[in-house]
Amino acid sequence: MPTLTTPPIDWHQRAGQLKIDPRAFLNGERVDVHGWGRFNSVNPQDGSIVASLPSCGQAEVDGAVAGSRAAFQQGAWSQRSPHERGRVLLKLADALESNQEELALLDSLEMGMPMSSALPDILVAAAIVRGTAERLGQLSEQLLPSAAGTLALNLRVPHGVVAAITPWNFPLYVALAKIVPALAMGNSVVLKPSELASLSSLRLADLAYAAGIPAGVLNVVTGLGAEAGRLLALHMDVDCLSFTGSTATGRVLMQYAAQSNLKSLLLECGGKSPQLVFDDLGDLDAVAEAIVHGYVWNSGQVCVAGTRILVARRLYTPLLERMVALLDARRSGHPLDGATQLGPLASATQLQRVAGMVDAARGVGGKVVAGGERDLALGACHYRPTLLADVPHSHPFMQEEIFGPVAGILPVDSPEQALQLANDCQFGLSATLWTSDFHLANRLARQVHGGPVTVNMVASPAPGYVTGSSIEPARASGFGVEGGAAGLLAYTRAKSVHFRLA
Ligand code: ADP
Repeated sequence: MPTLTTPPIDWHQRAGQLKIDPRAFLNGERVDVHGWGRFNSVNPQDGSIVASLPSCGQAEVDGAVAGSRAAFQQGAWSQRSPHERGRVLLKLADALESNQEELALLDSLEMGMPMSSALPDILVAAAIVRGTAERLGQLSEQLLPSAAGTLALNLRVPHGVVAAITPWNFPLYVALAKIVPALAMGNSVVLKPSELASLSSLRLADLAYAAGIPAGVLNVVTGLGAEAGRLLALHMDVDCLSFTGSTATGRVLMQYAAQSNLKSLLLECGGKSPQLVFDDLGDLDAVAEAIVHGYVWNSGQVCVAGTRILVARRLYTPLLERMVALLDARRSGHPLDGATQLGPLASATQLQRVAGMVDAARGVGGKVVAGGERDLALGACHYRPTLLADVPHSHPFMQEEIFGPVAGILPVDSPEQALQLANDCQFGLSATLWTSDFHLANRLARQVHGGPVTVNMVASPAPGYVTGSSIEPARASGFGVEGGAAGLLAYTRAKSVHFRLA
């Protein structure tokens, strides 16, 4: 009997058939708004314009915040039981899965993520939503011991109006990681996606509304950071601002919060995560593959990318050789070709940043052992997966977040030196340890800076959401818990109520 094989999906054709709606989502519907003009989102693969979107201004931001506030006060969402809110979120998870292809295509077109990553990413996002909905029923509030004739409660109440400002590297995933816990706890949300990649967030609002999130509870304003983003961050009626993006913007947002209403902040900013490789490892091939994946995945545009690779001297050369072979064999290409592992960088600006950082590191004696150049045959924004040896650890190449498929590798002589270097950095987002010595891993996992610490695996996709564990950045990587039960509570404030009953 002949075997039936499904022909591979032609994503180029599917992309051509997409119907793109760039209108803002305000108070339950898509609306044409004037704003402060329009801006284009650009496909980094070929420079074509994916969509022309409204640049929301004062009127739209005020309208969105007012709509969210009114919906919060009216209570159709905020006053519902956690169980009922959870049921709506489960419907949203189903909708994400049934619209997986469209959502993945939108992210891929706007920021260049290969479909081979964008498709599973939507399923991980749906899993976050399901996990959150299920966890909602397990939260508890506290009845406190108190004198006879009195009753004392510890409660968690929603903030009210939460603004979410999100980046372009995982557009739908990060938007969901913010709005779902915020909505789950009863807040209303105004989402401003990155100007580079807004379309999946707009579709997310359509799907959330269709799943039963009432009008006004989730609004999406498109626009530039310095315009719509700034207006939201300065808004006197936004109670909490949840942000993922650069440390530079995080600092500005703290100023805006201080200048306005002291809104509470959750900031996930930059990272420069270390990967510490100890000399007791057996299967170096598997370790090399995972380390490479850990920093070139999504073209290195990953907050938790492990880009400071600190290796026990005995394993330095064999590991480096294996990594170089793997980097050279990586399948870079058009994001819509199914076999592509590595797409373009998300924008020309990003490409210039990556190329500039590599050149600067070369200038101080950094040795390019893989990549180190653009891949113009594939497109203007492609950069070869790159590894640099011998860059001094104090150089910006080893200290700054670059957001490209580039990393530095250095030998170390002891676990103490590895830990000292790992923590010698302004950031503290995440870390990865490679060792078969459990006691060493346990000791260092507690001492290394960073929220998620992974041992013998890399954080892709972020384990916090999948397993329900909670993570919090340290130092210039920001603050505020994401994931798990504590991540839900981050979108509430503590309140106690004391009754005298007699
Ligand atoms: P990146 O450099 O990776 O684009 P940013 O921190 O600039 O990271 O952007 C992340 C998000 O922050 C985007 O949605 C962007 O529009 C927004 N943003 C940038 N600057 C500001 C600002 N001054 N105020 C509010 N939001 C901003």
